[in-house]
Amino acid sequence: MLGNVDFGRSSGGGKKSDKLILAAVAVAAAGAVGLLIAAVLSDDKVEETPWVVRFQCLDVTCGHEWEPGAAQLKADPEMLLSPRVRCPRCKGMTGVQMTQCPRCKRFFVSARRLNPDAPFTPEMMKNVCPHCNTDIMQWQKEQREKKGR
Ligand SMILES: [Zn+2]
Ligand SMILES: [Zn+2]
Repeated sequence: MLGNVDFGRSSGGGKKSDKLILAAVAVAAAGAVGLLIAAVLSDDKVEETPWVVRFQCLDVTCGHEWEPGAAQLKADPEMLLSPRVRCPRCKGMTGVQMTQCPRCKRFFVSARRLNPDAPFTPEMMKNVCPHCNTDIMQWQKEQREKKGR
């Protein structure tokens, strides 16, 4: 069923509005981080945990995955903004925040988080779930449109 999903159409575009796209993407990313922090920080009563924040250690011999929980995120909200955080198991600065696919709910590390120093190209900003091949931004846009905004 996955073969024919045409989420990747934006990759064929020309050069003319690259700057505009980059600006829009940067603004969207900043907004998403802000919303995420707001969501985490306002989550005092953990009822159904609307958004799970999970990290993975990129050290090949460690590979630890952990969820810091609302209390720790509140104490250290910069965790969400830092390209690398300290792994609680091997103590290296090798932890990276994972993305939860809104569709299949599995976690992955996006290309941009793997390469935080890479240039902001639309290709790098793209967030495609390796499990179900969903383009996250595209998917969220479609969900918003479905809700009528
Ligand atoms: Zn580790
Ligand atoms: Zn997925």
